[in-house]
Amino acid sequence: HVKERGRSDFRFYQRQMNIDLLSRMKLDHAMRLALEHGDFQLHYQPQVDLASGDVIGVEALIRWHDKDLGQISPAQFIPVAEETGVIVAIGNWVLTHAVQQAALWHAQGRQLVMAVNVSALQFQQANFVASVADALSAAGLPPDRLELELTESILVRDADEALKRLGALAELGVKLAIDDFGTGYSSLSYLKRFPIHKLKIDRSFISELPDSDSDTAIVRAIINLAQALKLCVIAEGVETELQRHFLVSAGCDEFQGYLCTPALSHEALEQFMEKGDKQPQTKLF
Ligand code: C2E
Ligand code: MG
Ligand code: MG
Ligand code: MG
Repeated sequence: HVKERGRSDFRFYQRQMNIDLLSRMKLDHAMRLALEHGDFQLHYQPQVDLASGDVIGVEALIRWHDKDLGQISPAQFIPVAEETGVIVAIGNWVLTHAVQQAALWHAQGRQLVMAVNVSALQFQQANFVASVADALSAAGLPPDRLELELTESILVRDADEALKRLGALAELGVKLAIDDFGTGYSSLSYLKRFPIHKLKIDRSFISELPDSDSDTAIVRAIINLAQALKLCVIAEGVETELQRHFLVSAGCDEFQGYLCTPALSHEALEQFMEKGDKQPQTKLF
């Protein structure tokens, strides 16, 4: 078993090395070609209301299969895209496509919020708010069906400019979420200054629930903070029934994670929803 673990670790490191050995510029070039050739795809992971068991939203997550490099994880290529700047073009592609898909589902009468990840560099573009407004009006999606997932780094960079932009987005009617909440460096004071709607508790605090005393304390504190500030709170990376149960009893609003399903292609997600199976509901006693 140790041997097997060693072997799969080796495979992981070898793959990692393949990516590292490619120069940043080569990967940058491959990403630009992937945009041109339509090699990127979006998958969608459900966000589930903990009280009703209903799927009330999905997060769009980018997927890339390169014919030479194979499947490349966004955890590997997004940081490089942020370094080289190609994230701006990728982010625009993601926004446009996610909003189009959301509009299709909206037209079919599905009540879903589409959550889209936004990188700092993308957010800092002078035309960012306009590009969000354009994507919404081109697709005919009501703005409150779109939620932008921002990281704390966006809020610390240039706080005054960020405040202006977030205000403009909130005015449009778009929802704003803080992704990977609890892992950033920023002070909590931004939560009262910025028009935020939702906190996403980072997976690193969820994975050892309910056994870890420190993680249970941190997660309870984040949920209490969200409740006090009248923000919605969602846990990401929920994999077990025990984790879900803990979150329900701690008063969390929503969850996302493999316990429901990993991210799915749009067809697979539609099938998943057709099955109509609700996620297990809040039954504490
Ligand atoms: P994130 O936004 O925090 O997304 C959550 C990540 O956790 C996703 O990884 C998702 O597949 C994974 N995940 C969800 N549920 C579980 C679970 O129960 N267990 C475990 N172990 N993992 C789970 P993914 O798709 O590999 O994306 C990684 C990161 O790459 C994302 O983290 C986000 O920061 C970035 N990313 C992905 N798509 C985009 C995009 O379109 N634009 C930007 N700017 N970043 C993106
Ligand atoms: Mg996210
Ligand atoms: Mg996240
Ligand atoms: Mg995360």
